[in-house]
Amino acid sequence: APLERLCLHESVGTKIPKAAFVDAFDGLDVRVELVGDEASYASTDAVASFEPRPEFLEAGWVHCIRAGYDAFDTDAYEGAGVPLTNSSGIHGETVGELAVGYMLSLARLLHVYRDHQGEREWHDPAYERPFTLSDERLCVVGLGTIGTAIAERADALGMEVVGVRRSEGSVPSVSRIYDPPALEDAVADARFVALAAPHTPETEGMIDERILDAMRTDAYLINVARGPLVDEAALVEALETDAIAGAALDVFETEPLPPSSPLWDLENVIVTPHRGSATNRYHLDIAELVRENVRRFQAGESLKNRVA
Ligand code: NAD
Repeated sequence: APLERLCLHESVGTKIPKAAFVDAFDGLDVRVELVGDEASYASTDAVASFEPRPEFLEAGWVHCIRAGYDAFDTDAYEGAGVPLTNSSGIHGETVGELAVGYMLSLARLLHVYRDHQGEREWHDPAYERPFTLSDERLCVVGLGTIGTAIAERADALGMEVVGVRRSEGSVPSVSRIYDPPALEDAVADARFVALAAPHTPETEGMIDERILDAMRTDAYLINVARGPLVDEAALVEALETDAIAGAALDVFETEPLPPSSPLWDLENVIVTPHRGSATNRYHLDIAELVRENVRRFQAGESLKNRVA
């Protein structure tokens, strides 16, 4: 049956202004409604949401406004025969730029100067600390939309980029590809290790004590993917014992990061509140993707970014 209604679940408000999101669907040939938890669904409804709800399984198609759809139960969608789509493919620029911003800051100590700025302090760091990114090696783990975007930008800055990828074949800007089982070798010579893989049973805890030990003592870990990819206790230990030089983290095992976390206090750690894709045009990027899938749904074509 063709779609009659596109429901925008209020949980989208976590990431984007709801009214602007509704407006972004101006002119769509199906009714667009903002719905709350009291809503019920039929097969002629599509739902776009940040969070999952069991009721969505009654709809005709469900879109997760995030790239990481680990909160959605894909088996339940497959069991119910309801297509689930996600928002990968649109975070290259936003998350790619954030990762580059982290690297520039970590290399040139912007975060450190900003810390001292609060004290009106003309800070003079140790001579050895600042360095340039050019010729430094970056290892990108996961070469999808975000990973490739990080690699391209790092390459443009003159960095040497290697990557970890499940499938064979070369990737532009990446000089060498490692298999996931060779992660330890892949990180060993890198000044920066950037995580851009999804949270799956295979990637959970992939950055553990063993991998942190394999990293250089002057290396930095960047996580713009998902918190559970990293054994956070092992990371804190590595940071506190100077086993690695620092980290820039947008995602955490528990979010918001609890005030008790030692990560807040470490000078060599940049903490950002899971804002990798947060820009003033996120709602437009998502709407473009959803519009394209509404068109495909109505035309009986296969949906873009189908994950279940
Ligand atoms: P994507 O699907 O385009 O890319 C993910 C890539 O990781 C794919 O190429 C996949 O093959 C690869 N991969 C999967 N398992 C792997 C493994 N074990 N080892 C190496 N590579 C593996 O998705 P994307 O848009 O690039 O997003 C990647 C992840 O980043 C998302 O799943 C999400 O969790 C996270 N993300 C975070 C933010 C943020 O705000 N920080 C924003 C968007 C996405």
